Amino acid sequence: MNLIFLGPPGAGKGTQAAAVSGDLKVPHISTGDMFRKAISEGTPTGLKAKSFMDAGQLVPDDVVIALVKERLAMDDCRNGYILDGFPRTVEQAEALSAFADLDAVINLDVDDEVLVNRLSGRRVCPVCGAPYHVSRLNGETACKVDGTPLIQRDDDKPETVLSRLNVYHEKTAPLIDFYQKAKLLHSVGGDLSLEEISEAILKALEASK
Ligand code: ADP
Repeated sequence: MNLIFLGPPGAGKGTQAAAVSGDLKVPHISTGDMFRKAISEGTPTGLKAKSFMDAGQLVPDDVVIALVKERLAMDDCRNGYILDGFPRTVEQAEALSAFADLDAVINLDVDDEVLVNRLSGRRVCPVCGAPYHVSRLNGETACKVDGTPLIQRDDDKPETVLSRLNVYHEKTAPLIDFYQKAKLLHSVGGDLSLEEISEAILKALEASK
């Protein structure tokens, strides 16, 4: 299945996409992770993306579209994929429709208040990307997967969180309507437990077959 996980920053797209990608055995493609890797490797794409990301702004459409087009052409995407964090603008969604045949779009619906708390308390492993929340770390400071010290992403600092949410409402939220009209949208409340959300997503996917 070719899927999109849509939702505001902090909605849990990455966590859920990773879980569902394991269930469906298709790759989880996160444009945010691809940019962070490109930045740490100092590639030309990374250099183009960095200042936008640090400011909580979107990376320009042409840069993201080229990156995703190249990624979806890879062999491991032949049996499907989950896109996490792309598309984020109507322009990206229109470009995607020219090179992808989508089966479903899962929209994770979470209130802004919950998002601010989640994002500002989020810690991540800089090596494997695993996400954590300070409220559930019990003072632990290392990644449970590989033991690397956890960090706070620069764009999870409070000032940047607010601009990311504004960007979401202005640029990305219109995609809900876009995919509703395309009859691909399934909305799932993102303010449940992780397991309950995964379950609701799998149920929605089952129904869309
Ligand atoms: P989150 O969903 O928590 O905001 P991501 O890891 O998906 O985090 O994205 C982090 C940043 O990467 C975004 O704020 C943006 O600057 C950039 N980015 C990721 N995906 C896209 C995209 N599709 N279009 C433009 N910018 C993007």
